Amino acid sequence: MKIYQFALPTLALGVAALLVFPKDSSGFSTIGGSLGINQRDVRVFNNFTDATANNNTTADANWPGYTGAPMSIWKACSEWASELHGGTGAGDPLQTVGSGGANFDITWQGIAAGVGGTNDNIHSELSGSSGGVLAFTETPISDGWRIRYYSSWTWQDGPGSVSSGIDIQGVACHEFGHALGLGHSTAGGNPTMIAALSGTGTAQRSIESDDIAGVQFIYGVKSASKPRITAVNNSNPLTITGTGFSATGNEVWFTNGTTSATGGDPRIIVSGVSSTGGGTSITVNVPANAGKGDVLVKNSAGSAGANLSNAFPVDPTAPPACTPPTVYCTGKVNSQFCSPAIGFTGSPTYGGTTSFNITGTQFLNNKFGLLFYGTQINGVAFQGGHLCVKLPIIRTSVQNSGGSASGTDCTGTYSFDFESLILGGTDPNLLPGALIYTQYWARDPNDLSGFTTSLSEGLFFEICP
Ligand SMILES: [Zn+2]
Repeated sequence: MKIYQFALPTLALGVAALLVFPKDSSGFSTIGGSLGINQRDVRVFNNFTDATANNNTTADANWPGYTGAPMSIWKACSEWASELHGGTGAGDPLQTVGSGGANFDITWQGIAAGVGGTNDNIHSELSGSSGGVLAFTETPISDGWRIRYYSSWTWQDGPGSVSSGIDIQGVACHEFGHALGLGHSTAGGNPTMIAALSGTGTAQRSIESDDIAGVQFIYGVKSASKPRITAVNNSNPLTITGTGFSATGNEVWFTNGTTSATGGDPRIIVSGVSSTGGGTSITVNVPANAGKGDVLVKNSAGSAGANLSNAFPVDPTAPPACTPPTVYCTGKVNSQFCSPAIGFTGSPTYGGTTSFNITGTQFLNNKFGLLFYGTQINGVAFQGGHLCVKLPIIRTSVQNSGGSASGTDCTGTYSFDFESLILGGTDPNLLPGALIYTQYWARDPNDLSGFTTSLSEGLFFEICP
């Protein structure tokens, strides 16, 4: 078993290496071997004992589902990825993550149930100490690795500056460099693969030109034909947009959403997936055990790193987006030549976590009116205007439009609290996912069409979960 250590500069060997070759411009070294296409998974057994190792509790949509040490380690290993994480690098507000430019990407596989064996691809803490050694990587060869962090140090998960103690993300980035096949570097410019950490702080998080040369040497410069994910829609079925997908026979790799047993392959893989649009779009049902994390596509052209896409953040458990409230149909011009309009504030939710008011404007002042609604769309001629809701309809309570105290003008308005109606539970039609169609109807004694009524446009909306 080979062990590659990362030490503080107080360790003599680390300082010696730094002093002997301070200006070497191509200092990376390799340890022999590389990670096969099916060894790109990364997991954490989160047994870190320092509170500061898991005190970042701020969720980030670009690293969905994880905080604390797991998120910092996910970021660390993603630094070696073929391109900026999430397509923009915006995933970590403190740095760009993912700049290796090689045919190399990882698949984040979340939490493992234990430390695992030396080739189970799991990060974890190890009780005790070993001189100035911070952490080490075991058996970094083609069938996997294991990374351990000594408990004697005070570990910090950041996410910003690390004032005292040791930055998990920086050390994890270095150790994962060993796991993918790099030895220590003798280059200047403080490469991540330097043998000794140069003080506390977060400098080791970012790979430098020498590290990039190293990962590109082992895995090859990123191929122009390498599949690339540029967007996902975060729903089930999941639509993946990008380039370079095969017409048939793609694999889609998901993050395991459960605490996975050690010793096995944690990936959730859907095989035999076709694409459309000339290899630019894939739609796939999300498997039951897939969770928040990332998604990758391996095309059917082979099993080299050039056939595996970048890892794109995904939350397949997110509720599907609701249809936003939308105005439709046509209002009826009233006796003051105004066109009554319908609008809204807020959004309708079944759980009542928001407010949702439907408003009517441009109505005559000081006239009675009401909102009615139904579950089907309509647009037929009605009282000189249009009936925008199909019968049967339900009428809400009568309101006075208010507005100017004297004369006749279009300063009248209505407002109805539809969220309270949903919460009241009196109408069995008002359920999550239901589409509701609404319209205002009011008095207009001088209505030119003779019906003495006024009508707004229609508004339809979906009741969100
Ligand atoms: Zn090392």
